[in-house]
Amino acid sequence: MLQFARDLEGLRENLDHASNEYMPIEHRDPAARGFLVVINELTAGTEPTVAVARAMAAYDRIRAERKEYDRSVNAQKEQRDAELAAEEEITRKVACPTCGAEAGLSCVGTGRSGGYRRKSHVDRVRLARSLNDGHTHSNAEAADLP
Ligand SMILES: [Zn+2]
Repeated sequence: MLQFARDLEGLRENLDHASNEYMPIEHRDPAARGFLVVINELTAGTEPTVAVARAMAAYDRIRAERKEYDRSVNAQKEQRDAELAAEEEITRKVACPTCGAEAGLSCVGTGRSGGYRRKSHVDRVRLARSLNDGHTHSNAEAADLP
């Protein structure tokens, strides 16, 4: 019985650690919280159906929080990707002073992945930004700049 009590205490600690509200939401385990709640309720003498209902509520709450967190992470990522794509589109309007890539073409040797995720050389980004601030220049003028 003493061993059982020790094991139960250890299990409670583990479950609490895995689902504690002070943990970042992405690391909180809904099932661990539900299991902990059902153990706590049953050992406190709560009627089993009520204990299970409370465990389910705790489980659902963390699952909902995690879903919300995942949604916001995805939204932020999409926002960043869109900003990167927009910046890259502007950058590619000028020729690259570093690798010589012509306007409209991507830089040479800056990454493995294709599309707009591939970043241009820093000097090309700076050049495109400086030209984009204020006046518009033609590609030919941009390519002549140092
Ligand atoms: Zn380049």
